[in-house]
Amino acid sequence: MTFSPPLVEQVALVTGGSRGIGAAIVRRLARDGATVAFTYLNSAARAQALANEIVAAGGKAVAQRADSADIDALRSCIDRVAADHGRLDILVNSAGIGLMGLVDDYSPGDFDRMMAVNVRAPFFAAQGAARHMRRGGRIIVIGSAAADRAAFAGNSVYAASKGAVAAMVRGLALDLSARGITVNNLQPGPIATEANAASGAQLDAINAMMPVGRMGSVDEVAAMVAYLVGVEAAFVTGASLTIDGGLTA
Ligand code: NDP
Repeated sequence: MTFSPPLVEQVALVTGGSRGIGAAIVRRLARDGATVAFTYLNSAARAQALANEIVAAGGKAVAQRADSADIDALRSCIDRVAADHGRLDILVNSAGIGLMGLVDDYSPGDFDRMMAVNVRAPFFAAQGAARHMRRGGRIIVIGSAAADRAAFAGNSVYAASKGAVAAMVRGLALDLSARGITVNNLQPGPIATEANAASGAQLDAINAMMPVGRMGSVDEVAAMVAYLVGVEAAFVTGASLTIDGGLTA
């Protein structure tokens, strides 16, 4: 008997793959055999270092700068990946921002930026990627458990953006189901990344709030993505799957 990694010959694009959850997803999909292209906005050196690390380990990865807020840049990046590698099988939209603020202080500019990156980008990325996908294609958006529970003051616009992701994914799943492409929303709770860095008393407070007593890890989120992109997940579409240590239970 011979064994081969599950995603051999598949091509994946991960938006926001230079750091945090996205970087863990890039590593996991590459480890599972896929050729992984990933985007970043500012971290050129870190993105290149991640691509180099994967190539040195025998995998295939390439970093491309593309601002998710810029639809044309995102579309060109998707088309380039599909052209360079001859196919596109998997899209994971992980790029996202969390501009927190109480209602009295929140600016229209921050509101628009949040919606552009967290909601508009995954929609047009899905549109662009689906054009290249065959049956069996997989689209995943990293939403947030904040879609179901805002949890703290100052989170209203972020929660709204992730609630919109959950609703949008249901619609996209129906649009693309006849073409054999699944679309799912993965909703993490607090995960230790730079966007959600906590230490000392703040970390103690978060851990105390968590039913399982700790934040999640980026690798735990990536493992769930690995399931959703696999052939065994063909019957899962339009779903919002939560990974939050029981926070919204
Ligand atoms: P990080 O801030 O650690 O990383 C964000 C990544 O997205 C970076 O690679 C960043 O690139 C990229 N990025 C940000 N804005 C853009 C943009 N406009 N265009 C292209 N790339 C961009 O975030 P996390 O890993 O913590 O979060 C990833 C996703 O998970 C987000 O959608 C977030 O909302 C969601 N999430 C996170 C949770 C958490 O607790 N961490 C909980 C629930 C959901 P660069 O390095 O160049 O800046």
